[in-house]
Amino acid sequence: MADMTSLLSEHGSASHPAVVRTFAEDQTVQRRRSGLRRTDRLVPAGLVHAAGRDTERALCGLLLDSLHEFGRSRYPFERFSQDTRCRTCDEAAGLRSA
Ligand SMILES: [Zn+2]
Repeated sequence: MADMTSLLSEHGSASHPAVVRTFAEDQTVQRRRSGLRRTDRLVPAGLVHAAGRDTERALCGLLLDSLHEFGRSRYPFERFSQDTRCRTCDEAAGLRSA
């Protein structure tokens, strides 16, 4: 665990925490119809936050307990529009310059 920082700096990416998880303040059901089947699935709603791997808080400091997690493979944080992303998380992840 303690070696995480030195490992990252070796790869030259220590200036920004890795964004590996996506969280949303809310979630909503999206109804889709494909053929005869109807599938409901949960999609992110409200502001979207980013978090690192082993942490209880989003990059902006919000407790992850109060947020809904979404799979990073399907919902990468940086793919959301800037209006949807939490500005503080965005800046902490190095995606937006202040
Ligand atoms: Zn945030």
